[in-house]
Amino acid sequence: MTDSKLAIERAVEGVELPMDQPIVCDDCHARLREGQPITVAANQHDGEVWRIGELWCAVCAPRPSENDADQLVEGDVGIVSDVREQAHYPVLVRATVVEELVRA
Ligand SMILES: [Zn+2]
Repeated sequence: MTDSKLAIERAVEGVELPMDQPIVCDDCHARLREGQPITVAANQHDGEVWRIGELWCAVCAPRPSENDADQLVEGDVGIVSDVREQAHYPVLVRATVVEELVRA
């Protein structure tokens, strides 16, 4: 059974991005700041936990047919501040599952 689009979006919202700052595009190495659009490859582990693998800027983002990730998800770079740890770490916010364009 496949998760619904909405369930996937909820599951990946706020998931930590797989790199320290600065966030850079996997292809062009452009720096991506808080609030900038990104596309990520999200893979489901153990049928439950979603993890983010590759990450691209809006220009380099592949289509779902060009990538073998479980899902491609668009969103923005968010920064979470952990006051107690005095740390900031990047997360995915405003997640939207990328769907394959159907050509007429
Ligand atoms: Zn790029």
